[in-house]
Amino acid sequence: MATLKDFRNNVKPNWCPGCGDFAVQAAIQRAAANVGLEPENLAVVSGIGCSGRISGYINCYGFHGIHGRSLPIAQGLKMANRELTVIASGGDGDGFAIGLGHTVHAIRRNIDMSYIVMDNQIYGLTKGQNSPRSAKGFVNAKYTPQGSIESELAPLEMALAAGATFVAQSFSSNLKQLTTVIEEGMKHKGFSFINIFSPCVTFNKFNTYEWFKENIVDLDEIPDYNPNDRVMAMTKIMETNGMLTGIIYQNKEKQSYEEMVPGFKPEALAKQNMKITEAEFEKL
Ligand code: SF4
Ligand code: MG
Repeated sequence: MATLKDFRNNVKPNWCPGCGDFAVQAAIQRAAANVGLEPENLAVVSGIGCSGRISGYINCYGFHGIHGRSLPIAQGLKMANRELTVIASGGDGDGFAIGLGHTVHAIRRNIDMSYIVMDNQIYGLTKGQNSPRSAKGFVNAKYTPQGSIESELAPLEMALAAGATFVAQSFSSNLKQLTTVIEEGMKHKGFSFINIFSPCVTFNKFNTYEWFKENIVDLDEIPDYNPNDRVMAMTKIMETNGMLTGIIYQNKEKQSYEEMVPGFKPEALAKQNMKITEAEFEKL
């Protein structure tokens, strides 16, 4: 059985020291080992941005796609090989600007895979422009010296409104929680949307580790929270201004996309003499 070290390779990340993305990489590796995967059972597909490099830093199948397109690639991969555990990943610029259309439709489609957004609220790779997640008033001496006049996107509200069956948020400084939410996302039978506050220590001087520590609200602090209650999830997200962390919402009842595709039913696959999984064979 594979252990954490089996998901490590010899490629040295070229992220800046202190970048939040290191913890995301470590959490994916830990989660993969914890759920009992072998490296050949996992594929990580990434977009463009500093965070997009992650697909090369984990010992598994990896695909570094083009800007904003990690989700179409990852969904196609999952449809072609439904036995793979598939993770799409990228930054907030990648997933909430150029790739936003894919994000919303992937959420409502509910293919059994995970999407991990490394949300640093800035464009890191191109040296610090505002991203769709930069707050209104965000000051960048070079690009928005008088403060951004646009409001930021609210990813958790968006995901719930789009019909997400799994919504979680975590923080790079909390490796334990980060690993748990990724692990539970991998186990979820459907699309898991995981937003991670992953600070850019080089260009974002506002949303720092300290700022997140002061502003994050952990779900454990909310008494009687029920992650299966969509209305409660939306209410608490709004009450905390999107700063909730933990597994915020999960719907285990909704069928995944592939469970509903007629051509993927065991009988249909058998008819075409196509490879079926052991579980599908059992159902014949
Ligand atoms: Fe991370 Fe920012 Fe450095 Fe990119 S520029 S590697 S996001 S700290
Ligand atoms: Mg970013």
